Amino acid sequence: GLPPYDEANIFARILRGEIPCKRVAEDDHALAFHDIHPQAPTHILVIPKGSWVSAADFHAGASAEAIAGFWRMVAAVAKAQGLEAGGYRILSNMGADGGQEVPHFHVHIFGGRRLGRMVP
Ligand code: 5GP
Repeated sequence: GLPPYDEANIFARILRGEIPCKRVAEDDHALAFHDIHPQAPTHILVIPKGSWVSAADFHAGASAEAIAGFWRMVAAVAKAQGLEAGGYRILSNMGADGGQEVPHFHVHIFGGRRLGRMVP
C-alpha cells in the first residue's frame, strides 16, 4: 500500500507557504498552481488542502463538501484557462506503479495542444 502522509512532502510545503508556487486558484478546500516542469502549454496541478496521499484516502476521508469543491475547482480551472473548446486531459498518478512522485493526492490538467493518445 501507499505510505502514511509525509508532512514534509513538497506539496505540503507549498500549502504551508514554505515554498512559492504560481497560483491559479485557491479556496478553503483546494489549491491550483502551475507545474514547475510543464509537459504541455497548460499544465496545472490541483491539490486538496487535507493530508491525503491517494485518491482512496481523499475520497474515504475528506468531507463531501471538500471532495465536491476539489472536483469543481478542477473543472473551473480548465474552463478559466480556455481549455473547454479544444479539450484537455486530467490525470492522477497513484503509488509506485502509477509513477507518483509527490505523495500528496493531486490531479494534473494538461491542455493547449493536441495530446498524444494516453496509453501505458
Ligand atoms: P506526479 O507525482 O504526479 O508524478 O508528479 C508530480 C508533479 O509535480 C510533476 O509534474 C512535477 O513537475 C511537479 N512538481 C514537483 N515539485 C514541484 C514544485 O516544487 N513546484 C511545482 N509547481 N511543481 C512541482
